[in-house]
Amino acid sequence: MHELAVTQSILGVVLDHAAKANATKVTKIYLVIGDLSSIVDESVQFYWEIIAKDTLAEQAELVFQRVAATFRCLECQTVYQLDGQAVFCPSCGSSRIEVLGGEEFYIEAIDIET
Ligand SMILES: [Zn+2]
Repeated sequence: MHELAVTQSILGVVLDHAAKANATKVTKIYLVIGDLSSIVDESVQFYWEIIAKDTLAEQAELVFQRVAATFRCLECQTVYQLDGQAVFCPSCGSSRIEVLGGEEFYIEAIDIET
């Protein structure tokens, strides 16, 4: 249930940004979430509706952009995306892999009205 803490930090950043920009309203928030971050869109949305209530961001729409988990095999250099549960290299079966993408979580953009 770490989405509550995550959602609170999003709200903090958004309200801070809105205050600096003299916004009267936050209309849209674009979030980038990697598939490996284990953050669930619906949970963020759920908490958002509770904690953003009575703030400038109350009516903001959350736009989720998912980033697929991407790995590179350190044995044969194959780059691949997570397919189901298997994280081993699909070419050589190695488990010596590095994560190239999918762990990210950040606010890409915020739309406001002034
Ligand atoms: Zn490989």
